[in-house]
Amino acid sequence: MRSYQNLIGGEWVSAQSGQTFTNLNPADTREAVAQYPQGGRADALAAIAAAQTAFPGWAAQTSVARGRVLSKAAQLVEARKPELAELLTREEGKTLAEATGEVQRTADIFRFFGGLSYVLGGQTIPHDLPSQLLYTRREPLGVVALITPWNFPIAIPAWKMAPALVTGNAVIIKPASQAPALTCELAKILAEAGLPKGVLNVVIGNGREVGGELAANPGVVALSFTGSYSVGSQIYQQLAPRMARAQMEMGGKNPTIVLADADLDLAARLVAIAGFGLTGQACTATSRVIVEQSVAEAFAAKLIEKARALIVGNGLKHGVTMGPAVSQAQLEGNLNYVQIAQQEGASLLCGGERLTDGDLAHGYFMQPTVLGNVKPTARIACEEVFGPVIGIIPVAGFEEAIAVANSVDVGLSASLVTRDFKKAMLY
Ligand code: NAD
Repeated sequence: MRSYQNLIGGEWVSAQSGQTFTNLNPADTREAVAQYPQGGRADALAAIAAAQTAFPGWAAQTSVARGRVLSKAAQLVEARKPELAELLTREEGKTLAEATGEVQRTADIFRFFGGLSYVLGGQTIPHDLPSQLLYTRREPLGVVALITPWNFPIAIPAWKMAPALVTGNAVIIKPASQAPALTCELAKILAEAGLPKGVLNVVIGNGREVGGELAANPGVVALSFTGSYSVGSQIYQQLAPRMARAQMEMGGKNPTIVLADADLDLAARLVAIAGFGLTGQACTATSRVIVEQSVAEAFAAKLIEKARALIVGNGLKHGVTMGPAVSQAQLEGNLNYVQIAQQEGASLLCGGERLTDGDLAHGYFMQPTVLGNVKPTARIACEEVFGPVIGIIPVAGFEEAIAVANSVDVGLSASLVTRDFKKAMLY
């Protein structure tokens, strides 16, 4: 079992409470993956102070010098790709192929922002008066906090850290407790790449306490959050009164519309990838398919075939195409939604059960699930599940499909499968 600590002012330290917690492999809970500090408010305060101390020196460097650190980090991530991907799979559960793609993306993000350091200038803007020079310059903001979810445990920390760092800010990151290992590994890599002490601080711990302090503390001038709608809206309300800069990336209830003229094989393939890939644990995962009534049955049959062809298991095993839910709570939530959907009139077309055969009994596995005859107002059609559960909503035609797609509070991404280019470009 690995052991990680918090990173404050360049030192790896225990939580001030002395408390720890341990993460188990969601594909096999007999394996303890890593132990972590259970940080709280005091640790967040220490990190803010360390970041404030480190900020002036980092801000004084040129963006090109800062970019060199990121470019070097990109090389180091790439060199460790197999090991980082395996750790990601062990802790979060996605398949090794999915994890490898995420680690590669992380290297690409660092490389991109390293390159961007050469063009981080400003603008000159024409003035309406003579002899005036009007221009903008990009300046570092100060201490920036990042709060991240567990579902992309290396790419999301990277795509928040890299722009914040290259523009000269000092950073505190609070990764989700379900999967903090990759954030710690990134911090080690950045230190090896030359990032000065205190410029990046990592505080692992309770969301309400650590995240709450980062959101409320006036020393934090900007906060970038990715996670659920409920937590994000709460943080936004904490930031607004002091007009701190806020970036909120939250959940969705993503529709794919399938029209009667669509290639149904293509539609089923796209929906299966988008809905069951990453075990449905993606903010942009397709979770409702709005299908023209005349092809709903034929489409459902093709999607069921795709669902049944998936091989569910430990993502480290060759041939496995769908891993477990990240946690017992997430698995129970998924299965609960399947029950609720049926109580609200949906028909269970395939899946819907926990998988417990052999070694699967030690993990949080469930069958990829397809529900038919879902009503647009049912909870399964409106609330984010964040698991491999797809609901099919039959509609009379194109206009109704668009109305249903737009009828939820948490739209994020949307897709349309049709051969009619005019309809595809209408909205
Ligand atoms: P979550 O909201 O439960 O947690 C996100 C982060 O917030 C974690 O680090 C958590 O510890 C912290 N947190 C929890 N309570 C807090 C509080 N009161 N104050 C401050 N911080 C707090 O989300 P999750 O379960 O980790 O991630 C899944 C969610 O993230 C889904 O809703 C998904 O759609 C969303 N997501 C969105 C995007 C996007 O780009 N839009 C990308 C990935 C995930």
